[in-house]
Amino acid sequence: MNIKDYNFQGKRAIVRVDFNVPLDENGNITDDTRIQGAMPTLRHILEKGGALIIMSHMGKPKGKVNPKMSLGQIKDAVSQALGAPVAFAPDCAKAADQAAALKPGEALLLENLRFYAEEEGKPMGIDKTDPAYDAAKKEMKQRQKEFAKTLASYADCYVMDAFGTAHRKHASTAVIADYFSQDDKMLGFLMEKEVQAVENVLNNIKRPFVAIMGGSKVSSKIGIIENLLGKVDKLILCGGMTYTFAKAHGGEIGGSIVELDKLDVALSVEELAKKNGVELVLGTDSICGDSFSNDAQQRIYPSNAIPEGWEGLDAGPETQKAFVNAIKGAKTILWNGPAGVFEFDNFCAGSRAVGEAVAEATKEGAFSLIGGGDSVACVKKFGLTDKVSYISTGGGALLEAIEGKVLPGVAAIKG
Ligand code: AMP
Repeated sequence: MNIKDYNFQGKRAIVRVDFNVPLDENGNITDDTRIQGAMPTLRHILEKGGALIIMSHMGKPKGKVNPKMSLGQIKDAVSQALGAPVAFAPDCAKAADQAAALKPGEALLLENLRFYAEEEGKPMGIDKTDPAYDAAKKEMKQRQKEFAKTLASYADCYVMDAFGTAHRKHASTAVIADYFSQDDKMLGFLMEKEVQAVENVLNNIKRPFVAIMGGSKVSSKIGIIENLLGKVDKLILCGGMTYTFAKAHGGEIGGSIVELDKLDVALSVEELAKKNGVELVLGTDSICGDSFSNDAQQRIYPSNAIPEGWEGLDAGPETQKAFVNAIKGAKTILWNGPAGVFEFDNFCAGSRAVGEAVAEATKEGAFSLIGGGDSVACVKKFGLTDKVSYISTGGGALLEAIEGKVLPGVAAIKG
């Protein structure tokens, strides 16, 4: 079903959103992007005469109640964003009465789904190597179904709008859909937009296609890097992974971040790029610090000749130029992960240069997709939010979608 065509009048809709927002130590929201992202769907349902049961996870409470991760803390912010009062159900699995009492135009926010291990459907506190693991897993899958069925019983229809968790087959993101007919389940507006943005990058590629992968580690991104090597014209690899590549060639990297067990992976990435005719752009110089701190002394060294006592924290001037040149003229751009420790104002120049080059190429007609929490934070830090084509709310989900995997949260709706 398409959300625009659904008649919500008098219906109770259970909506999976991603309200996993960052909180400070006092429980104040430090970035409400995810709350805002869900608003088009939530407002639409209320405006069309429906009632809302809103559900989400927050953090990783691992199946236990943890007040620090209570969604009660964000109830007022949700209500304010929605422009309507929002009631709170302190136990998401015992909210039947509150849900049944909802009238059109009313909203109920359920407590953190992950206070129940059933949400993720993984046995907690038992190791995979334990002989009892398989039986525990089977039992947990059964309990997951029961949990999903309970959530489904609150509502007449199900809307999936949590792109950030759409790559997980959890009770609320996928299993619940089994308890609704095809006509009563649908993707929300945010999901539709995210899926469309991925389509643009995967199936509607205008060339040259330049991907920029940064961040701290090669290991967490190797799947997507290998996949991109079959699609892009140029691949910029930056940030902390620079030093795993430098080390793989016998370079000196001082105290820079490195994954010593991934040196072979770095070499095989280079080989695959060569085989596929992809131009691999790696940093050649680094802005180094004498400690991991914003106030560290700074020196520029070649990325493969960093002395002991120094660590590469940002792309050097020569590297920045090379990155900007590689991005210039691109018609499709994917950016995931910063080019340095952008959180430190004194080591954010490389990430800024990349962001500004992406904005410039976008102005010249490129489609630019920015995804993964940190690159989004980068784009915001440099005031470039309105100068890129699309900012995804998904990290892992975005990368898996771009790898070409069908997300369980999408498959549950579309079959
Ligand atoms: P990821 O979660 O893998 O995308 O990594 C993002 C993090 O990588 C950010 O917090 C950056 O500060 C960090 N990062 C980027 N470049 C470096 C570097 N050269 N050394 C250490 N950390 C880095």
